[in-house]
Amino acid sequence: MSATATAFTPSTCFTASPRKPSSSICFARLANNSQSSSPSSATPPPSLIRNHPVFAAPAPLITPTNWAGDMGSESYDEAIAALKKLLSEKEDLAPVAAAKIEQITAQLSTPGTKPSFDPVERIKTGFAKFKTEKYLTNPALYDELSKGQSPKFMVFACSDSRVCPSHVLDFQPGEAFVVRNVANMVPPFDKVKYAGVGSAIEYAVLHLKVEQIVVIGHSRCGGIKGLMTFPDEGPHTTDFIEEWVKVCLPAKSKVRADNGSATLDAQCDTCEKEAVNVSLANLLTYPFVRNGLVNKTLALKGGHYDFVNGTFELWGLDFSLSPPTSA
Ligand SMILES: [Zn+2]
Repeated sequence: MSATATAFTPSTCFTASPRKPSSSICFARLANNSQSSSPSSATPPPSLIRNHPVFAAPAPLITPTNWAGDMGSESYDEAIAALKKLLSEKEDLAPVAAAKIEQITAQLSTPGTKPSFDPVERIKTGFAKFKTEKYLTNPALYDELSKGQSPKFMVFACSDSRVCPSHVLDFQPGEAFVVRNVANMVPPFDKVKYAGVGSAIEYAVLHLKVEQIVVIGHSRCGGIKGLMTFPDEGPHTTDFIEEWVKVCLPAKSKVRADNGSATLDAQCDTCEKEAVNVSLANLLTYPFVRNGLVNKTLALKGGHYDFVNGTFELWGLDFSLSPPTSA
């Protein structure tokens, strides 16, 4: 099945007053599916994750001043060797660390200076707030989650810090199995190039038996802007980004063909949704997704969160089987 041949018609629902927050929600062409849920057992945590609080940092953090230059990029072994080299040379970092401490001390002693950001304190207070206000106030939920997870949704969302689906859609723990990447893209089935995404889809569909896969684009997406502006030909200037966003190259082509005279911003707005449609089509290249659609245990949806206007748009995949043909 072609990744681009499926016809989609995203709805066009926007609030009338740009830049003013609105509570409007537009759900368009929602598919009606009846699915069954199925619990699954929890997987044990990887052994490399230490099961004790991280706040008691065992040693001062070393500023990785020279990591970019020293760390090999070819293999894990090279990376480890570079790290060992860095640590063996850490005495050389002492002047760097001293200068940094001096700078921070100077900032703290200057009236009116913005206080320095303490990441450990931020994480500590964030978890304390979560534990007090949510974890400890809902023991039934967390007791249930300790036995396993049975999310109804699998969600693809952008890594963008402004679009966390748990915030935007109020997903509670256990509700959504989430994959986040640059520009919320679903690549086509490829065991070699896209094993990370493929394994997440396989686990969600076959083991967790999610009922819905939702791909959510968003306004002002840097990954989509990159897709629309990176040269189509020639050497890449990035290690990963240009190659990755090419997953949705068919969306770029469609936008250029349909809206080539529009401004770049307007083209990006359109591409944010077309790229979602390409991802929905790519989901059809996974055999277990196709089976779920045919058996009506799985439905696909596209979404777009516009944080400029405060709107959320949702549309269904226009999927139908061809009528049987007689030979
Ligand atoms: Zn984005």
